[in-house]
Amino acid sequence: MQTNKLLEYDKEHIWHPYTSTTNPLPVYPVSKAEGCTIHLKDGRQLTDGMSSWWAAVHGYNHPVLNAAIEKQLKNMSHVMFGGLTHEPAVELAEQLINITPDGLEKVFYCDSGSVAVEVSMKMALQYWYAKGSKTKTKFATVRNGYHGDTWNAMSVCDPGTGMHHIFNGKLPIHYFAEQPSIAFDTEWKPESLVPMEKILSENSDEIAAIIIEPIVQGAGGMRFYHPQYLAGLKTLCEDYNVLLIADEIATGFGRTGQLFACNFASVRPDIMCLGKAITGGYMSFAATIATANVADTISNGEPGVFMHGPTFMGNPLACAVANASIELLLQSNWQNKVQHIENTLRNGLSSLKENTAVADVRVLGAIGVVELNEAVDMASIQAMFVEAGVWVRPFGKLVYLMPPFIITDAELQKLCDAVCKVVVESTKALVC
Ligand code: PMP
Repeated sequence: MQTNKLLEYDKEHIWHPYTSTTNPLPVYPVSKAEGCTIHLKDGRQLTDGMSSWWAAVHGYNHPVLNAAIEKQLKNMSHVMFGGLTHEPAVELAEQLINITPDGLEKVFYCDSGSVAVEVSMKMALQYWYAKGSKTKTKFATVRNGYHGDTWNAMSVCDPGTGMHHIFNGKLPIHYFAEQPSIAFDTEWKPESLVPMEKILSENSDEIAAIIIEPIVQGAGGMRFYHPQYLAGLKTLCEDYNVLLIADEIATGFGRTGQLFACNFASVRPDIMCLGKAITGGYMSFAATIATANVADTISNGEPGVFMHGPTFMGNPLACAVANASIELLLQSNWQNKVQHIENTLRNGLSSLKENTAVADVRVLGAIGVVELNEAVDMASIQAMFVEAGVWVRPFGKLVYLMPPFIITDAELQKLCDAVCKVVVESTKALVC
């Protein structure tokens, strides 16, 4: 298809994420992606700074992951999971149970991150229902969180950025504590837990679970908070008889420098949601993993089963590529790689700290964030990044990098230089 025809049809008929159909932001046609390079249809090559939203940790078109899918394809691409099982699903469950915190033992496969969150919330409700605590039907969380775009996931996203007002009276209403105010690398202050403790002390008979992104609040603001906060939440959950759901969909599989961000605080949640990088970014797939206590309580209560079963549950292609991706990650020197990316991002973005248009520069693991004082103009800043030969997709006031772990020094330097240049140029008018 000719590029102009493709773009015309796309503009006329296809909805892209978080944009309008009448006045859509521009899109760039891609012909292929390989390693850390996205090839545009017009021949331009962009160094990838996004890992396709946290997912493509090994880069694109990886021979090992391709081979895993091709091998599985020859046996079966899919069979229903009701009444049937298969090696890829069982091997993956074993692997996930081995690498996640001890005590998470029961794996529920789902289709996407948002569905994994829905499943986790449903598990928490069914757990208390089975125990006869029928008033525990609400959730507590923190502001600036993000857990996906389906109905219940949206209900625990930040009420402002999640636009709860649009759905007033329709969306379930939950408890929001102020966001963890204490940054990752600052001195711990126990009083930062007071807002959540107040909510629990007054309402724990109504609260089924706390749901939280461990350590990194992603799409709600790219903030890194103190591990003691997470450890403190776990203690509060135990004290007030509330479950803890850790949404590791963005943070899982090494992105923060720990295999799972819960590891920073040695916390074992009651339920953990995994997604995105689970398949190395190859396809939509997720898992919700619960303790035996949660799963068995649900199963021993009424109606005796967990009420969920997606059509593509345990998809063999997704399980096979997830197995290959996790093996590839564990066999790589991922801790050193992520540490090296962290050091390079710190050095490469540090000059922006002096820029008066910049509110903050922060780095954790393979995540580098430049927070501006004003929101960016998406269309123009995106064009500037493409012009600079990189794929960086800012949102709001945030320009950030989370490259594939296989990125070379030269590619990473190119990304940092492009961010510095584009931030300076795009904010010049604001600074003057
Ligand atoms: N939770 C978190 C922390 C996320 O970052 C995301 C995706 N951005 C989701 C849930 C939802 O995942 P998905 O987009 O796969 O539905």
